[in-house]
Amino acid sequence: MESLYLISFGEIALKGANRPFFERILMQGIKKALTPFDENVKLQKTHGRIYCFTKAPREKVMDSLKKVFGIVYISPAKSCGLNMEEINNTALEVMKSQKYTGKTFKVETRRPNKSFPIKSPEVSRQVGAHLLMNLDNLKVDVHHPQIRIDVEIREKAFLYSERVPGPGGLPLGCNGKAMLLLSGGIDSPVAAYMLMKRGVEIEPIYFHSFPFTSDRAKEKVIDLCRILAMYSGQTRLHVVNFTEVLKQIGENAPNEFLTIMMRRMMVRIAQQVAERVGAKALVTGESLGQVASQTLEALSATNEVATMPIFRPLIGFDKIEIIDIARRIGTYDISIEPYADCCTVFVPQHPKTRPDLSGVHEAESGLDVGELKEQGLKDIEIINVYPHI
Ligand code: ATP
Ligand code: MG
Repeated sequence: MESLYLISFGEIALKGANRPFFERILMQGIKKALTPFDENVKLQKTHGRIYCFTKAPREKVMDSLKKVFGIVYISPAKSCGLNMEEINNTALEVMKSQKYTGKTFKVETRRPNKSFPIKSPEVSRQVGAHLLMNLDNLKVDVHHPQIRIDVEIREKAFLYSERVPGPGGLPLGCNGKAMLLLSGGIDSPVAAYMLMKRGVEIEPIYFHSFPFTSDRAKEKVIDLCRILAMYSGQTRLHVVNFTEVLKQIGENAPNEFLTIMMRRMMVRIAQQVAERVGAKALVTGESLGQVASQTLEALSATNEVATMPIFRPLIGFDKIEIIDIARRIGTYDISIEPYADCCTVFVPQHPKTRPDLSGVHEAESGLDVGELKEQGLKDIEIINVYPHI
């Protein structure tokens, strides 16, 4: 049987002329999230709301919609005809679907459809009386009710009581696309989440250095992508064969500059790929001062080779805050699997923490940067990653 969900979206309602554009993208996002469970999802838009009709099982609907950016609340709802008898009976059904015994409640009515002759407070009063008459062990509390029954009088009547929070933010894709430097650690998947939350579609790139890093490390990155794809839908992971570049850096650059050289090569390669796929920025999981390569000087040395913006949404976050988000979005358990990535394998003994640019240029003078970049670009595997459902 088909069920109804009311979907509220907050911020995007504020965006004036852009609103139809945001709404359209949000509706596409909802459809995409639910299609695996129901190919015939029906969506209908009204003021600041989307009605979603679907046969998909409720827990799948709720799980999926909680990951669609732009959604503020999801309310499983019931609809009925515009007369008090049907409204009362539907309210009774909604209340019975709650654990109501011994609880306090309140009915709240809105009546955008003024052709319905009974005013909102009177509707609430009649519905409340009907509930009290038919159910034992219920009490009204208009100030701090434990259960709130919402009645909306529109072209039909819509009733609901639950408001399950969505992730908020802006619909995915309304702010273009960025390329994520995804490492397999805790931070970069969280960075991806932060950008996706602001409507940016993410295409991940991973620099793989077999045999310095095992194929299991690559599998781990794919697993992380599968979690991220639960928020974004199918995604394309670019796996760069970075081994030769890393070897060259190891042989031809001073040891204390290894990390910075590596990072600069990653940025050069990533932004070339970004241009190819229409991404307009790079995203990393860097956080100021977290490790030797994340000082202001080191970040500047990386930025110097960038021609597009590098977003570092975690720059001001503590590790504990990042871990909290990683747990919440479901990437943490995978991120802490022990397979080393190249940055862990190739850590210099005494890393340069405050590199000045002239030192960096000198360190890089032993490398054929153009050749290394081509080397990286010519061996890229593209993997289609599907959501983990
Ligand atoms: P993370 O937890 O994301 O691995 P980290 O704290 O381990 O971050 P670093 O290893 O210094 O920090 O990496 C900083 C950032 O550089 C990462 O967040 C990621 O965006 C990028 N990065 C590092 N290694 C790789 C890699 N092998 N492939 C792609 N991006 C990488
Ligand atoms: Mg790392």
